[in-house]
Amino acid sequence: MDIILLGATGSIGTMSLELIKAYNYNLIGVSLGSDIDKSIKIVEEFKPKYICVRKDDDKAFFSKFDCIVFVGDEGLEKLASIKCDMLINALSGSAGLKPLVSAINAKNDVALANKESIVMAGDIIMKLAKKNNVNIYPVDSEHSAIWQCLKGEDINTINNIYITASGGAFRDKKRSELENVSVSEALNHPNWSMGKKITIDSATMMNKGFEVIEAHHLFNIPYNKIKPIMHKESLIHALVEYNDSNIKAIIAPHDMKEAILYAINRGNRIEYNNKLKLTTLHFKNISFKRFPLLKYAIYAGRKGGIMPTVLISSNDAAVNLFLNGKIKFLEIEEIVINELNKTINFKPTLDDIIRVDKEIKERIIGGRLWQL
Ligand code: NAD
Ligand code: MG
Repeated sequence: MDIILLGATGSIGTMSLELIKAYNYNLIGVSLGSDIDKSIKIVEEFKPKYICVRKDDDKAFFSKFDCIVFVGDEGLEKLASIKCDMLINALSGSAGLKPLVSAINAKNDVALANKESIVMAGDIIMKLAKKNNVNIYPVDSEHSAIWQCLKGEDINTINNIYITASGGAFRDKKRSELENVSVSEALNHPNWSMGKKITIDSATMMNKGFEVIEAHHLFNIPYNKIKPIMHKESLIHALVEYNDSNIKAIIAPHDMKEAILYAINRGNRIEYNNKLKLTTLHFKNISFKRFPLLKYAIYAGRKGGIMPTVLISSNDAAVNLFLNGKIKFLEIEEIVINELNKTINFKPTLDDIIRVDKEIKERIIGGRLWQL
């Protein structure tokens, strides 16, 4: 299987590389990050034919390897357009959108970890994928679970889909205790080891809001049937309740590799050994008062139009400011809610989405995000 991997130096990217190595898949292209040592190791070990680097300086350096080197945002789009059997989009933030569009236009099937792209432009992406006869396979563990639960079922018999949430780093804290929490406390996720941005999105519960929107688009399920629920063990990833009162659920260990492997193999089961120790499972309702960004995210999803873009872009920018020590944790919420409240909604084209994303980031952080 010929694979192109976007975001190879990140958390999902690293796990994907481990699988590519273990299963002897053929990595023909990668996009690399700002960690140059890690990037060199990837190129030396996997010898991809195509690479994409972040800056022109890096291009000069990587040109000594026997590969074709692309650069920057445009380079990501060119790389995503090269024909392959499966493109894994493991970029973080809105940077994943344009390459996703390029991959679909090139008729590449996609294993999608980058949820931000589908949240921002779900209607456009799903239409484009249909038009190009391209499959988008979810890597997000909850959506992988929903996909598995839906197999062989009639979508009209679904009563509810429950998406589970661990609650993130501050699930046991009251709002009043969040005033002065530090970046390292927010990055201390109880169950999962992930990239920094999604770990903060888990602490604010924004991640679960994104996942509700993602599920709506991927499976064409109305919002009133998608319900987030707190499940602190993170062992059940999603539950689907049918109209005969039967519920299907997927239980899997805290390991994204199952979901990545299942996605790149188009929903076929491939042997992978990772035993799970079963334990007591708890469920609890999530309070919108305690986690207001969950409420606002679902609101933005339901409104549609440009609102989900505003949600993603303001959150990308605010999380970046927080991770760089420029704002406090609770200011992430303030920034996002303020941007949503002042938005006059409209039905955007893809160009509108890209323009608004840039405008919002420029307004909040003055241009490009700092590299993390
Ligand atoms: P990460 O921060 O560890 O890695 C992100 C990768 O994207 C890095 O390689 C980085 O260099 C690259 N990148 C970011 N912005 C870029 C830009 N402008 N140009 C080029 N490259 C850029 O993130 P992650 O945790 O691996 O998450 C990736 C995606 O998968 C996110 O959308 C996240 O929500 C989703 N996801 C992650 C997990 C997880 O366990 N990590 C689980 C479910 C979903
Ligand atoms: Mg998830």
